[in-house]
Amino acid sequence: MKKDLRKVVIAGNWKMNKTRVQAAELINQFKGVSDGSDVQVVVCVPYTNLETAVGAVKGTSVKIGAQNVHFEESGAFTGEISAAQLCEVGAEYVIIGHSERRQYFGETDETVNLRTKAALKSGLIPIMCVGESLDEREAGITEEILSTQIKLDFTGFTADEVKKTVIAYEPIWAIGTGKTATAEQAGEACGFIRGVIAKLYGQDVADSVTIQYGGSMNAKNAAELLAQEDVDGGLIGGASLVAADFEVIIKAAMA
Ligand code: PEP
Repeated sequence: MKKDLRKVVIAGNWKMNKTRVQAAELINQFKGVSDGSDVQVVVCVPYTNLETAVGAVKGTSVKIGAQNVHFEESGAFTGEISAAQLCEVGAEYVIIGHSERRQYFGETDETVNLRTKAALKSGLIPIMCVGESLDEREAGITEEILSTQIKLDFTGFTADEVKKTVIAYEPIWAIGTGKTATAEQAGEACGFIRGVIAKLYGQDVADSVTIQYGGSMNAKNAAELLAQEDVDGGLIGGASLVAADFEVIIKAAMA
């Protein structure tokens, strides 16, 4: 199965939640679960929790990520954080282009492209988010939206850079809404994205790139979503804040 060629990545997106004390408490509850398995568990925490989280996962296979990164190396960019600063505190992954960043903070495909390039240059693994809105799905233009985002977000990338990037398919209508895409919808969209990558960068890149599903994945629906041939893991918001639920999702990926 082609699926065996790809790394399965289960990533939690904590968004703007948890103090440092709470972060350590939560991580301590699930951090050993994936040890010895091929599943890569990642926890993307607020900037202020990064150092605590890195300390908490020491000695386990869990990796820590941030939720954004700026594309410049340094300078007058108040409120922003550079890739080198993330690496310095031990972050290894970074979410880029989350729909909340696109919706509330003016992220565009152009800035997603630049941020992803900067992350890769520093050795961070980007988790690049793409996905359609409800209006776009209902208008029947999901595929058009996804292929445009993939083309723009990866403009100027080498095949090797694309291979190193984790893509998260996140239908906006399913994020934080409790409304999950069906396993078929998730599988179809991830398969479509893989097809776009194949056309642009070749079948070898498409077969090896990790494509996650994200959008109200939880302890109940994870197994079905993760069983889809083209779904190589999940980006999980709400359910990653509850240790018992996140553990069930990790175990579903390991099964
Ligand atoms: C997310 O934040 O990327 C996400 C998918 O959130 P939720 O799981 O809460 O829908």
